Amino acid sequence: MLTKASAPKILVVDDDTSIRITLNQALTKAGMNVRAEKNGAEGYKAFCEEAPDLVVSDIQMPEMNGYELSSAIRSSDHGALTPFLMMTGTEGQESIELSYDAGATDFISKPINYPLLVNRVRYILRAHSTFLEWTKSQNQLENLGRVLDNSSNEIFFINAESGLINSANKAALRNLGYTLSELKNFTLASLLVDSTREKGNFTQACQNLRAGSSLKQHFTITLRRQDSSTYPVEGDMYSSQELPEISLVCIFEDITERLFNERRMRHLAYYDSLTNLPNRELFFQNFKNALLQAERYGNMVGLLFVDLDNFKHVNDMLGHKAGDELLGKIADVLRSCIRNSDYIGTHMEGSLARFGGDEFAVLLSRLNSTEEAGQVADRILEAVSRPNIIREREILITPSIGIVVSPEHGSDPDTLLQRADVAMYAAKKSGKKNYQYYCRKMHSDGLYRMELERDLKLAIKKGEFKVNYQPKFDIETGMLSGFEALLRWSRNDIGVSPEIFIPLAEESNLILDIGNWVIDEVCRQIKEWHDAGVSKALHVAVNFSARQFSDPGLVDYIRACFNKYEISASCFQVELTESAFMSSTSLISEILVELSNLGCSIALDDFGTGYSSLSYLNRFPLDVLKIDKSFVSKINTDNNNSIVAAIVALSYELDLQVVAEGVETEEQLSFLRELKVKYLQGYLWGAAAIPEDLEPLLASHSQKVMEAHSPVSLSM
Ligand code: C2E
Ligand code: CA
Ligand code: CA
Repeated sequence: MLTKASAPKILVVDDDTSIRITLNQALTKAGMNVRAEKNGAEGYKAFCEEAPDLVVSDIQMPEMNGYELSSAIRSSDHGALTPFLMMTGTEGQESIELSYDAGATDFISKPINYPLLVNRVRYILRAHSTFLEWTKSQNQLENLGRVLDNSSNEIFFINAESGLINSANKAALRNLGYTLSELKNFTLASLLVDSTREKGNFTQACQNLRAGSSLKQHFTITLRRQDSSTYPVEGDMYSSQELPEISLVCIFEDITERLFNERRMRHLAYYDSLTNLPNRELFFQNFKNALLQAERYGNMVGLLFVDLDNFKHVNDMLGHKAGDELLGKIADVLRSCIRNSDYIGTHMEGSLARFGGDEFAVLLSRLNSTEEAGQVADRILEAVSRPNIIREREILITPSIGIVVSPEHGSDPDTLLQRADVAMYAAKKSGKKNYQYYCRKMHSDGLYRMELERDLKLAIKKGEFKVNYQPKFDIETGMLSGFEALLRWSRNDIGVSPEIFIPLAEESNLILDIGNWVIDEVCRQIKEWHDAGVSKALHVAVNFSARQFSDPGLVDYIRACFNKYEISASCFQVELTESAFMSSTSLISEILVELSNLGCSIALDDFGTGYSSLSYLNRFPLDVLKIDKSFVSKINTDNNNSIVAAIVALSYELDLQVVAEGVETEEQLSFLRELKVKYLQGYLWGAAAIPEDLEPLLASHSQKVMEAHSPVSLSM
């Protein structure tokens, strides 16, 4: 309780649900108390209610944008000094200026590197608390010296009229290498390195403070030491009416190390270490931004997916080191192809990426026609196919290239990437060393499926599967009630959607092994959670394919897993879709009865998409009914409200618990609340995540359970 009360309060404002959730998790994990809101208007309301210690906000949001929010907070009763961190996205350089004009303290650009953002938030809070401590002791001048000299921040007092430094604390003198009497001959501006921009900003900021148009100005500047070496500092300058002779106070922190670490962290997170090219993640962000821009300005974006032919032979014949060398050379060749291209657009830095292995991607952000993508592909084919000399041997390698162009081939980045992959496989099939544009009929093409199936067979052995867990909540109390286990396949580091690989696994019967792996893994995770003190009342729902029920050993296998991990069947929920129920009813119903007798609960998934017949529902030992997300997403459109209402009424009739799936908006939530739907699952309150990222959620759940069972009220 105590730590909770003293934890810094952070207000996060962003209309992007996934950013809100991830930020919330990252900051909570760092020990902060987070409230997240989805637009400026709600953010402002939350600000007035909570008086947070810091605000992190997006710029473009409905109702009230980030600039407006910042200005509103600045002119509110308690918001004159609250640190405000703006997340700038695709808006470009001017957004940074506009953010500062609106009173933001600092900015961080998207894509958000979460560890970096947490660091930045910690730093801003620290600098701000030094300032607050200083203001507190302004009236007690005897305390001032102690505060100043104990501070690791560099602090300067400046005479506003002459601009001369009036005093500085030990940290400042130590780092600059001057004595106080030497330093008194300088203005702070004369210690700046000669950058016109920095000096200009600095002078402007001083003027703003003197004129009283602002109480505080934030900056990053570079200072020159006595020995002429330089170092970057970041901090704030405040105007002060309290101290005679001093009218400006600067509190700076030497950020040499932080900048170095940030650069390193950024590099590690977003670049491939072998080729120094952006990795898949950074590329994906750039691709997403390019698509957004293209939508706004109505132009075309192309993506080339480049895969080297028979690269495995190089590794096998010459060893991995030589293989790596070759990849480095190919990266250089691709770089030079792109440098000469007119279609790359402004983000030269992110337009070429290595996706891992021998796969590269090229982003063409300024296409005038679909054919132009082919022209770049031609150039790449020609350049990459030239002989390479590696360790005095001539090596010939060729690429196969898949091309997609948006909007023609889709507008969603995930879909486009998958389609580029499909097109690349088609290029391999038509003899390699060529390129292919995506077209619909490629899906029915056997080769892509064959390769996918081949890799799927190896996926368990290669450890490419992972289970993510999506939380489910009690709508009325907001309490966590359990999770749904969702399988993830990272195929050679590239995620394949379960919508693609699950049907394939079902057709090839691989689903039996995969399904058993999921059951074992989920039981293992449940045991791990129990060992860590997580409530045993929480359950995990596991998706089953109808095929798995044709395995005569299924029930024994599940029972053996419960025994192996010493968990109770009540923690395990079996989820089966409506169509699976219908596939071969008699056998399925027998197995479900066995599982139900064992103590598992049974959920009917995707309800509403199949037959939805009352008569067959009676035949199964059902406990839970999940309303399919296609209905939830259409709440308040068409006639779907009455369908959802009918499903809920039906479930009451049959004494079933109802879970609404895919809940994304407050509007959907309030409708479901009205209908008294008991449980919610959806991005609004939580997307699927790896267990590590669920720790804050589980910890707060344990806390709530403890409070609910404690005889003495802990809340104050
Ligand atoms: P499902 O059982 O209907 O799972 C729910 C899907 O909805 C998940 O997609 C989840 O990420 C997504 N979802 C959750 N909340 C929201 C939301 O607010 N909005 C939207 N638009 N989507 C939301 P995912 O993980 O891609 O899984 C797709 C399907 O793959 C699942 O649908 C399930 O049928 C199947 N699947 C996943 N894991 C397994 C497994 O281990 N075994 C079997 N047999 N099937 C699985
Ligand atoms: Ca499901
Ligand atoms: Ca479902």
